[in-house]
Amino acid sequence: MAKIRLISEHLRLNLDILAKKAGGKERLIAVLKDNAYGHGLDLFAPKAADFGILHAITRDVKEALEIEKYFSDVIVLSEHKEVFFKHPKIIFAVNELEALKSVPSGVRIALKTDTGMHRNGIKIDELESACALISQRNLSLHSIFTHFRSADEISGEFFAQRKKFDEIKTRYAALSERYALGEVYYHSCNSAALLRCGEFDEDFARVGIAMYGYCDLPEAFGHFGLKPVLELFARKISTREVKKRERVGYGGVYEADKDMISSLYDVGYSDGILRYNGKGGLKSANGSLILGRVSMDSISINSNEEEICIFNDATVWAKHFGTISYDVLVKLNAKIPRFFI
Ligand SMILES: *Cc1c(COP(=O)(O)O)cnc(C)c1O
Repeated sequence: MAKIRLISEHLRLNLDILAKKAGGKERLIAVLKDNAYGHGLDLFAPKAADFGILHAITRDVKEALEIEKYFSDVIVLSEHKEVFFKHPKIIFAVNELEALKSVPSGVRIALKTDTGMHRNGIKIDELESACALISQRNLSLHSIFTHFRSADEISGEFFAQRKKFDEIKTRYAALSERYALGEVYYHSCNSAALLRCGEFDEDFARVGIAMYGYCDLPEAFGHFGLKPVLELFARKISTREVKKRERVGYGGVYEADKDMISSLYDVGYSDGILRYNGKGGLKSANGSLILGRVSMDSISINSNEEEICIFNDATVWAKHFGTISYDVLVKLNAKIPRFFI
């Protein structure tokens, strides 16, 4: 079976870079949703906590319950409103006004507001109704937040959304007095927004991809020195010689242009690597050519090494497949053994 090596030093470095930008580690919320972007939640969460991270985000309650012991609080982003319950550390994101009507008393919530992404969130003119419901239902409002739709693109939209969020802050200041609600925390930035935002002046930034070592911002925003944490390795199952003009694998897509070594390694698309179709010259991390199509449980590579690093930079695969690093990482099967060095 393949294995995943996680490099502690790179995680520490990335967190230092992000903490510096945010004004302290205590201002970072580690986004650990979806098995920590494929890195492995059970391993990654305590390591992030060891490095001084106090706050986390998960996708659902199951993930939150697994890791709440390591953090002072965990925000659950996308849970169904029927599931919400009172817990000292778990904070449920409320993604629409309607959901507020059924949240049990005392539940800790984070109010998602829509500043232009139009995917979910309370609209600015619903803010007063939301405050009324929060007060009526005696909910514990932890924070108000929003999400940018174009943080990693050069466009004015980022600034328009920031302005909208400022408006929400001003409105809430007035409403909190009227409805006797306390002060709240504000957070809007994901990785790209934090790295590009100039002076960071909010309570928290929600960092996912940059913590894992990637930043999809255009070159114009500069380089930040982040390093990928994850490396995917596979072990050799068998080796053979392929003669000139023999074709390797399903469909015979790869034809040898000379006699060469071809080894079969134990990772395939069942492990969550994208199914390379054998065209386009994709290579392993050390530059060995992948020969033909990726199979379900294996991959042929022009190499004789016992163990081979399939990738240590997900952007290589992301670029080949016309997708993003998130997509390559998050798909890595949870059953692949993972370990930190
Ligand atoms: C996934 C997610 C993030 C993290 O985004 P990155 O680009 O990985 O830093 C932040 N906020 C919300 C609401 C998210 O869904």
